[in-house]
Amino acid sequence: MQQHFIDNRPVASSSGEFIPVIDPSTGAEFDAIPRGNAADIDRAVRAARKAYEGPWGALTAAERGRLLLKLSLLVMDHFDELAAIESRDCGKPTRQARADVTAIARYFEFYGGAADKLHGATLPYQNGYTVLTLREPHGVTGHIVPWNYPLQIFGRSVGGALAAGNACVVKPAEDACLSVLRIAELAAEAGFPPGAINVVTGYGHEAGDALARHPGIDHISFTGSPSIGILVTQTAAANHTPVTTELGGKSPQIVFADADFDAMLPVVINAIVQNAGQTCSAGSRLLVQRSAYEAVLDKVGAAFAALRTGPADMDLDCGPLIRKTQQARVADFLSQARGDGIATVAQGRLADGAPAQGYYQVPTLLRDVPLDHRLARDEVFGPVLAAIPFEDEADAVRIANSTDYGLVASIWTRDGGRQLRMARKVRAGQVFINNYGAGGGIELPFGGVKASGHGREKGFEALYGFTVLKTISIKHD
Ligand code: NAD
Repeated sequence: MQQHFIDNRPVASSSGEFIPVIDPSTGAEFDAIPRGNAADIDRAVRAARKAYEGPWGALTAAERGRLLLKLSLLVMDHFDELAAIESRDCGKPTRQARADVTAIARYFEFYGGAADKLHGATLPYQNGYTVLTLREPHGVTGHIVPWNYPLQIFGRSVGGALAAGNACVVKPAEDACLSVLRIAELAAEAGFPPGAINVVTGYGHEAGDALARHPGIDHISFTGSPSIGILVTQTAAANHTPVTTELGGKSPQIVFADADFDAMLPVVINAIVQNAGQTCSAGSRLLVQRSAYEAVLDKVGAAFAALRTGPADMDLDCGPLIRKTQQARVADFLSQARGDGIATVAQGRLADGAPAQGYYQVPTLLRDVPLDHRLARDEVFGPVLAAIPFEDEADAVRIANSTDYGLVASIWTRDGGRQLRMARKVRAGQVFINNYGAGGGIELPFGGVKASGHGREKGFEALYGFTVLKTISIKHD
C-alpha cells in the first residue's frame, strides 16, 4: 500500500481511503494508492511554501542544478527497478518503459545543467537609467500529470520547475503513478530539502481539483485531455493562477509520392503503435499523396499485420491499453467506423497466452476515412491509424489543418522546397521532416496550438514558462 510523499516522507491520506492499482496486462489488482483530498493537497502546498521560503529557496542556481544532476544519476542507479514499476503500472512493453527511465534521467540532467544558465537581461533605455530584468520563480508550482508517461512527464515538468527555483506539488494520475512516488523518494535521497517535491495521489475531481483551486499555488502545469485542461484553467482563473496546458492531438504524418518509403515505414508505424497509441503526439492520421496511396497502404498494411500485442513483460510491439473503459472507448471507435462502411486494411495479432482479462486492442489500419468522421477528427488514444489520400501540397495542408488540434506533424518528401513550404503552412507546435518525434527530443521545445494547448515544455524554452519576469529600472544621474 502506497502513501503520499510530502515533506520528504510518506504520509497517509486524511481520507483513510485507497484507490486500487490495476495491472493493465492482466486486469488484476496489485497495489493501492491513497485517495487524496483537499486536506492532503493543502498540507503539500504548505510544505512546498515552507521549502520555497526556507532551505530550498535559499539555494543558489548552481546548487539546485547539482541536486538535479545527482537525482539523474540516482535514477540511472535504479534503472531496472523503475522500468519494472513503470512497465507493470502502465502496461508498457519493457523496452518502452526502459526508454522512459532513460528520458527522465535525461530531463534531470538537462535541467540540472540549465539551472545556472537562466538569466535576465539589461535593456537599452533613456540616458540616466539602467534597466534590467530578473527571471524569478513563480513560487509553488502545481503539476497535474497523466497516466500515459508518468516518468517522462514528471521529468519534463517538475525538472524544469525545480531548475527555475520553484517548489512543486504533483498530482499524478490515478491510473498510473507508482513510479512518480518512487522518484520523489529518490529525490529526498539525493538531498532535495523537505517540501521541494511533494506528491499527492488521488482522483482528478478530488485531489486534482483541490490543487487547481488552491490559492497557495502560483502556477499550474497541466498535461492531459482538452476538456480537463479547460476545466483546470477555469478553476485556476478564480485565483488568477497561470496555467500551461499540454493537451491532445490528431497529428498528421504526410507522405508525398517522392518520399523514401523504406525510411518512412518503421517511423510511421512506431509513431502510432508506441505506448499502444496512448501518446499525445501519436501520428494517428496517415495522409498519402494519391499517386502513391495504394503502394504505401500495401507496405504499411503488411507491417501492421506483423505487429504483435501482448502483456508488458512479453515486450512485444504493443502492450495493453491502460484500463477497461479505454479499451471499450477504442472498440467503440472501431465498431462505429465499420458500421459507417470504413474499410480495415490490416490488423495486428494478439499473442498466444495474452491474459483474457487484459485490456488489449490490436493495431488497426483503416483507409479512406472521411474528413468529417470522428476517426479523422477525434483523438482515439489507441493504436488506430486513419489513412486519407490527398492530391497536392495545398490539399495536404488543408487536410492536415482540418482538426481542432495542432500538436505535431511529419512531412515525408525528398523535395527541399516542399519540406519548408509545408513546414511553414502546417499548424503544429513541432514539425518533423523525414522523421517523427526526434526520439523524444528533450532539448526541443514542445507544445501545441489550438486545442492541443498552449505554453511550451521541454528544452530551455520551458524554463521561461516556469519563471516570472521582473523589470527593475534604476535612475541614476
Ligand atoms: P485527463 O485529462 O483525464 O487526466 C489528466 C490528469 O488530470 C490526471 O492526473 C487526472 O487525475 C487529472 N484530472 C482529471 N480531472 C480533473 C479535474 N477536474 N481537476 C483537476 N485535475 C483533474 O487525461 P488522461 O486521460 O489522464 O490522459 C490522456 C490525455 O492527455 C490525452 O488527451 C492526451 O493527448 C493528453 N496528453 C497530452 C500530453 C502533451 O504533452 N501534450 C502528454 C500526455 C498526454
